[in-house]
Amino acid sequence: MGTVLFTAGILALIVNLFIFFLAYYYHTHSAKKNKEVLKILSAFDQGQEEIFDLEKLTSYILTFLLKVTGSPRGGIFLYYRQRNELRLASSQGIENTNSFPPLFTENAGNWALQVSKALVPLHELNTPLFEKTFPSFSGRLKKEKLFYLAALMEKNYLLGFVALDKEAVNLSLDLLEPLSNMAGKALESFYLYETSVTDETTGLYNKRFFRQALQAELLRSNRYQQPLGLLTFDIDDFKKINDTYGHPQGDRVLKELALCVLGCLREGIDIAARTGGEEFYVILPATNLEQAAKAGERIREAISQHPFPGFPDHRKVTISLGIAVYPFHAKDEESLIGLADKALYSAKGGGKNRVCMASESRITS
Ligand code: GH3
Ligand code: MG
Ligand code: MG
Repeated sequence: MGTVLFTAGILALIVNLFIFFLAYYYHTHSAKKNKEVLKILSAFDQGQEEIFDLEKLTSYILTFLLKVTGSPRGGIFLYYRQRNELRLASSQGIENTNSFPPLFTENAGNWALQVSKALVPLHELNTPLFEKTFPSFSGRLKKEKLFYLAALMEKNYLLGFVALDKEAVNLSLDLLEPLSNMAGKALESFYLYETSVTDETTGLYNKRFFRQALQAELLRSNRYQQPLGLLTFDIDDFKKINDTYGHPQGDRVLKELALCVLGCLREGIDIAARTGGEEFYVILPATNLEQAAKAGERIREAISQHPFPGFPDHRKVTISLGIAVYPFHAKDEESLIGLADKALYSAKGGGKNRVCMASESRITS
């Protein structure tokens, strides 16, 4: 009896010691792991706070996630709510980025709401809902050997996806989930900012941003002793276009026109805004009289030749433009806008589809 009790006692001691060591190991190991996770999350947070540009932010998020997951290749796709479009915003190691042209989607939120996982393997994306929401997307991911998708969400809104290579080795979900959430939050603040300064129909800047940008650019012009061109334009006979082809076609013209104008401008330098129904302004920093006249003429010509879609009779669209140059024509913001507007009226009065300089001398037709 005594031997049995002794043996049972020893056994209990061994089991207790084993449990104690297991608990100790688990505690120190998970504490170490938690510390590591917190370190990574905090590094991510610190880095992203210093970024004020969507492009840089997406590239930063991608680099970070690739490092954390050990994936050698990947891409970030952003969902643009206003346009219902999914676009490849940043990529690493994807040679054929052309296989991801912008994808028009519907009800992206529906799909996102049904996904409760931080990371979805590609084979789980073969659902009718995913295929309906993002047609041919999973096929393209497969072709590019991207086998995992992590949704970037913020408050039940889908902001986009991170696509990862199947070689991803350290897919630690307890890290990926908070990281995707943080990335979602960082992206959302950019979306909110962008929404507050852009015009929904055309994606150009809105009136509020235009006024702030003009002030800032004039200050800069002053500081660096450089001229600044201000261009304004208005669609010719737009009412007739609406009346003849319908309001939706009018909206389509506005969108297409904005893209065409952007194509004529210096990316990241010139600032194009839609300030009213069919009224637009373009700020041309470091641009003198001759250069502003050339830019105006370039835009006028591009629009007048552009094959706008949706017109069964291949109708052409034209615009009239007015230009004023700082400090040549005006020394302050209000008079500069006033003179550009006046030049635009002259262009309309002179027969439309033409550019007028603030001095009211017609330069083209
Ligand atoms: P003009 O050549 O003198 O500029 O004539 P216009 O017909 O372009 O000018 P008007 O100011 O008479 O008409 C402007 C039209 O623009 C009237 C309005 O219905 C239309 N418009 C304003 N905002 C929008 C919009 O967001 N979408 C559409 N489709 N039409 C708009
Ligand atoms: Mg008009
Ligand atoms: Mg008008």
